[in-house]
Amino acid sequence: MHQMTLAEIARGLADKKFSSEELTKVLLARISQLDPQLNSFISLTEALALEQAKAADARRANGESGALLGAPIAHKDLFCTQGIRTSCGSKMLDNFKAPYDATVVAKLAAAGAVTLGKTNMDEFAMGSANESSWYGAVKNPWNLEHVPGGSSGGSAAAVAARLLPAATATDTGGSIRQPAAFTNLTGLKPTYGRVSRWGMIAYASSLDQGGPLARTAEDCAIMLQGMAGFDQNDSTSIDEPVPDYSASLNESLKGLRIGVPKEYFSAGLDPRIAELIQNSIKELQKLGAVIKEISLPNMQHAIPAYYVIAPAEASSNLSRFDGVRFGHRCENPENLIDLYKRSRGEGFGPEVQRRIMVGAYALSAGYYDAYYLKAQKIRRLVKNDFMAAFNEVDIILGPTTPNPAWKLGAKNSDPVAAYLEDVYTITANLAGLPGLSMPAGFVDGLPVGVQLLAPYFQEGRLLNVAHQYQLNTDWHTRTPTGF
Ligand code: GLN
Repeated sequence: MHQMTLAEIARGLADKKFSSEELTKVLLARISQLDPQLNSFISLTEALALEQAKAADARRANGESGALLGAPIAHKDLFCTQGIRTSCGSKMLDNFKAPYDATVVAKLAAAGAVTLGKTNMDEFAMGSANESSWYGAVKNPWNLEHVPGGSSGGSAAAVAARLLPAATATDTGGSIRQPAAFTNLTGLKPTYGRVSRWGMIAYASSLDQGGPLARTAEDCAIMLQGMAGFDQNDSTSIDEPVPDYSASLNESLKGLRIGVPKEYFSAGLDPRIAELIQNSIKELQKLGAVIKEISLPNMQHAIPAYYVIAPAEASSNLSRFDGVRFGHRCENPENLIDLYKRSRGEGFGPEVQRRIMVGAYALSAGYYDAYYLKAQKIRRLVKNDFMAAFNEVDIILGPTTPNPAWKLGAKNSDPVAAYLEDVYTITANLAGLPGLSMPAGFVDGLPVGVQLLAPYFQEGRLLNVAHQYQLNTDWHTRTPTGF
């Protein structure tokens, strides 16, 4: 039962082959049996799950249908869930029970999805390895000595290990696409503004975007359908109609113009990954796509710009955690400054503190023009590169990451080494574009992802290309040994 995709579950529930309650019990048992190896969950919500599953079965018995009605999922632990701990992977929020549901949580619940729990993540979504969580590192089900990617590593590891078919995640600089690549999943980062950020604890507000992690493009389409849409509670939500993402999955790729940026194949890319990307290009050519070499000349500046803008926004967003209003408060503060200092010093881990300091520095009066303003100018250049490229091509294709998943601890002493691994993903966030990562093969038994980028609001196109690719390849069907 645990091998089923969301699409298969929907068919099974519609055909009354099993109930949502039965399926939920099977998956909850599987989580308690297998998750100790992975550490992919921070909280399990068994009682809520069984209640939602029974309610979904009752709705189906009353003649209701829907692809998510009775489908078991989990939420990255930065989506607020009413009355349930929402920790953001931090000691700071270990005692925080959200007073309301995030829009994404409410929308998926209304569609009948069943919440099994809250998944582990890098603290405040800062990281590419899921090693900065206060609740401990998450392990990659493909090799338990390796990282699953971050910051949505818990969602990725859980779905890859078949503990559940799909989960929510967020992507500020790659945190949906990179863990998807590292664990053999399909992950979609929507256009900025497509999915509401209301109730999604902020890391860097102008870059953060929620989206799905699942095994197939078909399942990502189902999840995105439940998550996307205008929300007046989010001032950056965009009032654009939501298309039927499942309906466009089977469009032909004949004549599709795919751009491959020459900058992507530089010395930093593992040559074995380069070869798998070339194979995926050939596969898409067989389906009728036309390949064109393009250039993204400002890509080399994206990492430094991102690692100024994201920490700057984080330093501002995280100032609300002061020991007064939310979360951790130190014992016996001597005065207000002592309360702030010790609450924040005790509540935040080292990576979060590093980013707050970098961000506050970049925003300070003497350095704002030199760092923050310059980074914003680079951001515009990166966006302009994409706009020029999309005048010539429909989709941009390349690797999701320069290397496969590294060993746990391998980059702990050198944070910049981890930042450099974001080279292919962060540009989409700087520009606000949608991006998808899908399985493209293996290197030393570890999964490799191919990334597709599209113009604004072309999520349907990304899912269509990925679905057609998945109908003709079987990488996405491979299961990690032991799961
Ligand atoms: N690795 C990037 C960072 O640490 C992106 C994280 C994310 O997308 N949340 O900032």
